[in-house]
Amino acid sequence: MDYPLNTIRGIGPKRIQALADAGIRTVRDLLLYFPRDYRDLTSPKPLCDIRPGEEAAVRVEISSKASEYRSGRLCITRARVSDGTATVPVVFYNQPWMKENLVVGRELLLYGRFEVYKGKIQLTCPSIEQEEVIEPVYRPIPGLSAKMIRQAVEAALRIMEGQWPDELPERLRLRYQLAERNFAMRNAHFPQNPEALRAARRRLAFEELLLYQVALSLSRGGAEPGVRCEFADGAIEAYWRGLSFPPTDAQKRVLEEIAGDLRSARPMARLLQGDVGSGKTAVAFGAIALAAGCGYQSALMAPTEVLARQHYEGAKALFEPMGRKVGLLTGSLTARQHREAHEAISAGEWDIVVGTHALITESVRFERLGLVITDEQHRFGVRQRAQLGAKGERVNVLVMSATPIPRTLALILYGDLDLSILDQLPPGRTPIKTRVVPQDKREDMYGFVRREVSRGRQAYVVCPLVEESEAVDALSAEALYKELKENLLRDVRVEMVHGRMKPADKEAALSRFREREADVLVSTTVIEVGVNVPNATVMIVEDAQRFGLAQLHQLRGRVGRGDQESWCFLVGEPNERLKLLASTTDGFKIAEKDMEMRGPGDLFGARQSGAVVAGIFGLLSDTSLIKITHDEARRILSCPESEESAAVIRLAKDLLERKLCDIAMN
Ligand code: ADP
Ligand code: MG
Repeated sequence: MDYPLNTIRGIGPKRIQALADAGIRTVRDLLLYFPRDYRDLTSPKPLCDIRPGEEAAVRVEISSKASEYRSGRLCITRARVSDGTATVPVVFYNQPWMKENLVVGRELLLYGRFEVYKGKIQLTCPSIEQEEVIEPVYRPIPGLSAKMIRQAVEAALRIMEGQWPDELPERLRLRYQLAERNFAMRNAHFPQNPEALRAARRRLAFEELLLYQVALSLSRGGAEPGVRCEFADGAIEAYWRGLSFPPTDAQKRVLEEIAGDLRSARPMARLLQGDVGSGKTAVAFGAIALAAGCGYQSALMAPTEVLARQHYEGAKALFEPMGRKVGLLTGSLTARQHREAHEAISAGEWDIVVGTHALITESVRFERLGLVITDEQHRFGVRQRAQLGAKGERVNVLVMSATPIPRTLALILYGDLDLSILDQLPPGRTPIKTRVVPQDKREDMYGFVRREVSRGRQAYVVCPLVEESEAVDALSAEALYKELKENLLRDVRVEMVHGRMKPADKEAALSRFREREADVLVSTTVIEVGVNVPNATVMIVEDAQRFGLAQLHQLRGRVGRGDQESWCFLVGEPNERLKLLASTTDGFKIAEKDMEMRGPGDLFGARQSGAVVAGIFGLLSDTSLIKITHDEARRILSCPESEESAAVIRLAKDLLERKLCDIAMN
């Protein structure tokens, strides 16, 4: 299973490198790179049944000659297609070769999104499909086309066919009616039909959930004492006094809870949940201050480079005057900076290390690590979470998340983690007004932005998320940027950030925005987590129906951070989901509703952010599985000697040891 990728026929060194860069090094890794979604091409829909915003397969005939339009770097190809029930325009951006395919009278199977443009429905950038199958959609890997990824997986499956032993004890398989492993692997990637897909996912989700929960319990270890901080009385008070604001009661309570863990011999394992803007950072820094006061190093991990840098700046400003050294370790440092960082960490020179997941995926050695904090936990993969536990076995771990998970679900998902909740926003926040804005009101909305800017305020504009590739994402950010610069926000200073930019350029653009050298920031979802600019009072989300509710709620949390009245505009058709957002700012309510409407997979952002590739949530369509595996994990751990338990425990340990980095990260 751990065959290197060059055992796969037809994959050259270049593709192997591209896969390795994405963290895929073995045939196993590749097979665990599960699709993030599927396209069902088996039942094309009649055009007359298509609803705005929907993604679907249609079998159509080209009914008008293709036309081409060029403007600068942009090339638009258009034609009309019909299937006897309706006729719609189809539009391609920057794919001039498509013209060849658009011959009048030709029949095509198309898959794509039906968008509303200027009040009319159109099919934008569909793919031309050959067969009526259920096709996997993988998260893009830079340097590989979607087709190359499919081919590589297909080839890997052929190698492994029948060879991947089913390690899950048979009793479990029979008892819970789980599909056999080889069947599950094949059908998770290339489903024969919807039922086979369901069975495959159920099997894989069961395995992942069970092993994950067993691994979590194992990684918390037994009764062995952990790192213990004996900080002075009054240390907490002193910390709060050092801040520029008084803490909320909730912050005080939660830091006390954390302090209790730090003092005790039992290592802390705590989940801190708090809605966006509830002030988790100040609590995290408090925990760091306590650990540092006792001579321990702390590591603070953020899911993105941007957020890591922001925390780094914040930590420096707070801790350096207190005589503590703060360092940064992220994936984008040069080789030399990396080496220096590793040295400073292992020599104990740095008291506080802020970083991205590089902090766990690289084998960083600390001199006296006492506390590990991960921010925006929901963006980390399941394996990383488990790895982290394994790494700092006796270390205090605090994980923080803004994605409100209903309490019972959180307790089960996070195994034995203790739970703290920041259920209070700092005072002086004016509630954010949320409006759903139909396309034809877009111009008025940007007029409003111009007025806000002229009053010294700033605004975010978030681009529609394009699932297919980062390249297209960047294109959509650039197109929007251009539209705003040339037209709707002509006299306004606009900056742009997207995932394709170099981290340094991204950071530079963000810092110009932060320093008020720019009024409007156009971005893809890189700003989703954590960015903090209190002077920004407007959040615009273009094509909002493409985002998950939880994600929209997060985006909205970027504004309303100062004492000014703040606005969130969701551009799109006012459907049930967007209306819910407009009606409440209660994150828990939104999360519950989101789960009701879309299932837990999407709640965790697995779909939208790809955060949990191959992780349970992406595969999970059935919450009852959580409960079943939870109980089963308990049973296994309560009699670890039985042959069956031993087999599962062995698998769980494997999971912990395997150095899989989360391919989905950035
Ligand atoms: P989140 O929980 O979303 O990570 P942050 O920690 O980024 O929230 O805090 C959001 C903003 O609120 C920051 O500007 C922070 O300085 C500010 N803040 C945090 N706690 C308080 C408080 N007790 N009083 C006033 N402002 C606060
Ligand atoms: Mg935060």
